[in-house]
Amino acid sequence: MHSYDDQNIFAKILRGEIPNKTVTETEHTLAFEDIAPQAPTHVLVIPKGAYVTYDHFAAEASDAEIADFTRTVGRICNEAGLAAGNGYRLISNAGEDAVQEVPHFHVHIVGGRPLGRILG
Ligand code: C5P
Repeated sequence: MHSYDDQNIFAKILRGEIPNKTVTETEHTLAFEDIAPQAPTHVLVIPKGAYVTYDHFAAEASDAEIADFTRTVGRICNEAGLAAGNGYRLISNAGEDAVQEVPHFHVHIVGGRPLGRILG
């Protein structure tokens, strides 16, 4: 369960082996621009710890990591002008059904254009 592959691309980004366009970095969290943006703003936010999915992070991360991550996501929504603008969408794909490409927990912040409905 939740076995972490330390060769995944975000682990390599965290180790500095692959470059990234950093948006912000905190003690426990890194945010960077998605390499294939799907909207004018498309930021990926990842914890520095080795977690595969949201449920893994929620169960095993410390309160400090969770608070840091959650507040960083909110701060980016504000600083990118999305919160005070027309809004945004948070997405976190987990596992096969959700077609999770990179097995390191991440939240996509997407905004800056109308995003349409994704459910129903
Ligand atoms: O949620 P999912 O795992 O499918 O999304 C992974 C995301 O990571 C994609 O949006 C992809 O563009 C992004 N990516 C990236 N930099 C890489 C590899 C993937 O931003 N080097």
